[in-house]
Amino acid sequence: MIKANNPALKSWVEVPADSDFPIQNLPFGIFRTESNPRPRVCTRIGDFIVDLVVLDHMSLLEDCDIPHSAYDNEFLNELMAQGKEKTRTLRNALSEILQKDNKEAEKNGWHFLHDADKVEMLLPVRVGDYTDFYSSIEHATNVGTMFRDPNNALLPNWKHLPVGYHGRASSIVVSGTEIKRPHGQTKPKDDEPPVFGPSRLLDFELEMGFVIGKENGLGNPISTEEAEDYIFGLILFNDWSARDIQKWEYIPLGPFLAKNFASTVSPWVVTLDALEPFRTAGPEQEPEVLPYLQYKGKKNYDVSLQVAIKPEGAEETVVCNSNFKYMYWNMTQQLAHHSVSGCNMRVGDLLASGTISGPTEDSYGSMLEISWRGTKPVKMNGGGERKFIADGDTVILRGWAEKDGVRIGFGESVGKIVGG
Ligand code: CA
Repeated sequence: MIKANNPALKSWVEVPADSDFPIQNLPFGIFRTESNPRPRVCTRIGDFIVDLVVLDHMSLLEDCDIPHSAYDNEFLNELMAQGKEKTRTLRNALSEILQKDNKEAEKNGWHFLHDADKVEMLLPVRVGDYTDFYSSIEHATNVGTMFRDPNNALLPNWKHLPVGYHGRASSIVVSGTEIKRPHGQTKPKDDEPPVFGPSRLLDFELEMGFVIGKENGLGNPISTEEAEDYIFGLILFNDWSARDIQKWEYIPLGPFLAKNFASTVSPWVVTLDALEPFRTAGPEQEPEVLPYLQYKGKKNYDVSLQVAIKPEGAEETVVCNSNFKYMYWNMTQQLAHHSVSGCNMRVGDLLASGTISGPTEDSYGSMLEISWRGTKPVKMNGGGERKFIADGDTVILRGWAEKDGVRIGFGESVGKIVGG
């Protein structure tokens, strides 16, 4: 067992029972404060942010053999590039600092702890390239049923390879960033010319993303067996989508402006190490996949996922409860497929799962599916209904894994839509 994952560990920092951030989590992020606006690396415990720059100054991270510049940095990229052995040592060191019996650290806590409510969390990773997959069989089946043939919903390639496309990295934003409703071309009526204007069918997509922490070099495919060594950690990912723009533009090369205006990530990268106890078997793959996509062991993760919509000035309504374990194609297969051509991964690249829908109507990961193309409006707790996302709505993604009394959470990915 990875030392820091021990469910028996307790911290001298009081952690609320329902917190996403017990001592067994220790995710990584980037923060700044009003008094020190320089972005720097942190972790989190309970309701507190832990400043790694200060810990390193106090010589508490010496054994990790990580340069100070990796902590005193506006992104996690340099830290992730140190490799898993070092970042695992770092996570274990952070665990020891925060463990209940560490009286010395407790005494000095005021030097490196900040109230989580009083800091600003920033985009954690400088994302070089971003790829989006389409790996939930329930989602692909729902979309295929709606737009093509209910009896033949999956395209012929779907069960043979993890379908994906290269997305836009520049518009990936951290939780809390307001999202301007995109404008673009749509074709509301089949027999009339296209029109220009704000998207009227704005949607979220519930996804998880994984961040690359190791490079393979051009021409060197990554096997499913090696893949986990390249995955630093996971984040929540809302792949905002303009359905009306998408419908008109996507043939023949796939989504373009419908997806490139914004994607919202959670501020915390939860390490693959922290998720180790939550491994679970994925769905059976039939027909059998080609040898380069075959894998051994449990490669899916049991992470509960939730989406809520909070209209302006009203209470939120949970519109979806899904789970990351439903993915048909797992991350090691996605990475093996992505690189089998020789494509090189770079530290900070982000690969997203695709919309994560479960088998039941209340587990669908987009409004497109939840409202079934707008034919089944969703009742909101505060009155009114939604088919898609309205101006003033805040969309909140949450994710957490729970076992043996330990809850490893991702925090939230929050985005408010403002009229464009
Ligand atoms: Ca997507």
